[in-house]
Amino acid sequence: MESKLICISCPRGCELLVQTDERTGVFISVEGNACMRGSSFAETEVNHPERMMTSVVSIRGAKHCMLPVISRRPLPKGKLVEAVRAMRSITVEAPVKEGDVIAEDIAGTGIDVIAARSL
Ligand code: SF4
Repeated sequence: MESKLICISCPRGCELLVQTDERTGVFISVEGNACMRGSSFAETEVNHPERMMTSVVSIRGAKHCMLPVISRRPLPKGKLVEAVRAMRSITVEAPVKEGDVIAEDIAGTGIDVIAARSL
């Protein structure tokens, strides 16, 4: 089966033509990528799509009431909603340093969420 994707690995945004197995949906090949990162992107996007999670949590004792947070690594796309929902129930106390762990093993992914800035 043939499908189109836009590579989001860099601002060039190459249009990729991806071949997948008709029966299993597994990645077979890609055309249109100007570099190998596009090939990796297409394969990951087809076989196990991932995204970085960015969100905010509440913070007490700081000059702002919300702290931006980010996943340390991309999460499986199917876990994103659960991970973002989990952020709603978290409140931290200032001071927080950029890179501090805010939540461990978010949504059972084994990936931590860290502070995106000091506050
Ligand atoms: S294929 Fe390479 S050049 Fe094209 S958008 Fe992806 S990373 Fe950028």
